[in-house]
Amino acid sequence: MSNHAVILISGGASGIGGCAARRFLDQGDKVHICDVSAERVSTFLESNPGATGTVADVGKRSDVDKVFEDLAEHHGRLDVLVNNAGIAGPSAPVDEQDEDGWDQCIQINLSGTFYVTRRAVPLLRDSANGRIINISSTAALHGYPLRSAYAASKWAMIGLMKTWAMELGPEGIRVNAVCPTSVSGPRIDGVIEREAEQRGMSVEQVHDVYLRQTSMRTFVTPDEVADTVLFLASDAARKISGQSICVDGHTEGLSNWLD
Ligand code: NAD
Repeated sequence: MSNHAVILISGGASGIGGCAARRFLDQGDKVHICDVSAERVSTFLESNPGATGTVADVGKRSDVDKVFEDLAEHHGRLDVLVNNAGIAGPSAPVDEQDEDGWDQCIQINLSGTFYVTRRAVPLLRDSANGRIINISSTAALHGYPLRSAYAASKWAMIGLMKTWAMELGPEGIRVNAVCPTSVSGPRIDGVIEREAEQRGMSVEQVHDVYLRQTSMRTFVTPDEVADTVLFLASDAARKISGQSICVDGHTEGLSNWLD
């Protein structure tokens, strides 16, 4: 049997997931990504020839079945699952929150995490060293004005992490969560633009609000989040389970107000 771990990363074609996937490949691990964007999967696989992947929406059970068929065909085993696929969801007060947007956010961020993990656990049981890492958010530690669906989904990912750590710990499977603050990149730019429009503020003002949510007045980079993902997957974290680790320059709160 190979010494290298087999890693499955959902939403692994770009952003945090893509960055973590490249870092696992760099250290010699085998990586299978799944991602809803066929274009991103194709670009990722072209630039990372050692990786394998499936075009799949984690919120659709038949797509998730296909991920595990491909994983079995390419690798035949699994050591690390990174539940990373997620969307930002609607930005609006609760009474104006779009119900379809709510359903979609919960379906992808929460049900998708469950669908993937449910199928991964039997494989992780067969690994000598199974690990699950949920990419949650600092939204899971505070209320998050205008982001009901996202906050609910990310709090739920912590609940799942704690529950799975208890269920699977006796079998030696470690389960943890990583909670990033705003990550520099197109996704947070889109969130800020939508919020600025919704609130009649400038993009710069909303950007400043987000910066002031952290003591270090900072966003983080995908690499900084990947550092913690790789640490939790490593043997250095062999006794760490049931934990949420923030990569956030210390979030004081997610108040969205300037005053
Ligand atoms: P991103 O949008 O840059 O990348 C997400 C990837 O997931 C994309 O490749 C996208 O195609 C894929 N994806 C989206 N929906 C999917 C689905 N239904 N099935 C499979 N793949 C899907 O986002 P990111 O910033 O890298 O975020 C990754 C994770 O980190 C998410 O769970 C997000 O909630 C969390 N997070 C992000 C931030 C941030 O500021 N960007 C902050 C905290 C937590």
